[in-house]
Amino acid sequence: MSAGNFLHELVGSMSQGAAGNPTVAMIEAAFAHHGLHWRYVNMEVTPANLGAAVRGAKAMGFRGFNCSLPHKVAVIQHLDGLGESAALMGAVNCVVRRGENLVGENTDGKGFLKSLESVIAPKGKSVVLFGAGGAARAIAVELGLAGTKRITIVNRSESRGAELVGLLRDKLKLDAELVVWRGDYAVPATTDIVINGTSIGLYAPEARLALDLNSLKPGMVVADVVFSPVRTRFLDDAAAQGCRAIDGLGMLVNQGIVGVQYWTGLIPDVAVMRKALESAMGV
Ligand code: NDP
Repeated sequence: MSAGNFLHELVGSMSQGAAGNPTVAMIEAAFAHHGLHWRYVNMEVTPANLGAAVRGAKAMGFRGFNCSLPHKVAVIQHLDGLGESAALMGAVNCVVRRGENLVGENTDGKGFLKSLESVIAPKGKSVVLFGAGGAARAIAVELGLAGTKRITIVNRSESRGAELVGLLRDKLKLDAELVVWRGDYAVPATTDIVINGTSIGLYAPEARLALDLNSLKPGMVVADVVFSPVRTRFLDDAAAQGCRAIDGLGMLVNQGIVGVQYWTGLIPDVAVMRKALESAMGV
């Protein structure tokens, strides 16, 4: 087959209002690096057209697609099945064609876990997790599946926090508790890992988590889901207390790695993908 005379394999990204999505550069860099004639195509899909878009992707033989807000829950009704963690979370951000079926997975939590595991293994550890939205939910479920001993969810809204703690207790039999976030939270000294799973700090370098910084002890691992700025105030403050800090870009790169692995079967080069993402984001 001559160059220019082949069909590209296609992977998509279905979202609304995500023009200029920097993950396109990251995923296509992985395809190119591994010599795959694949394309990753950003598609603007309205909620009303989601079902038709999924049927279209299936009809056109897409290897899969990512989906982001507002489609992460609504997409499930259009799929043929779900992976284990996506079923537990009730949210899908990555769809994979397996045989004739489109199967929904969730790579957000898996990406976070990969990034975390480069510094500390979560099995048997005690975790404090700020937030109970989509990202925190994905992270908490993967931490539970990975054998984390105890998770404290610290969240502003009690109802959302209680729902997540209920899921962790009922479906994962996890030792989980809720702290409703009022004023500066003091992290218990027995904590191994502290995670910001909220959107506090996104595009806001000065934004501060309501947290008693003196309760952060050297040796604790501190991670942020926020990836812009890469170095958040939370991570800087934690590093100044002697904690090991993990940025949100690692989570973003690693969720891309898990997706490429699902679609292609290859283990992509992490350095190539991080470099492409950083360059697309101008960092
Ligand atoms: P959601 O809207 O689902 O959840 C937001 C969470 O942040 C909720 O727990 C909310 O609390 C909390 N929150 C927001 N503002 C405040 C505040 N001022 N004070 C206290 N709590 C607050 O968002 P997502 O979970 O989808 O996204 C969260 C962050 O994760 C975003 O910054 C997003 O960019 C990032 N993210 C990063 C990824 C990566 O790969 N690095 C992947 C996915 C997301 P409440 O329940 O009280 O409203």
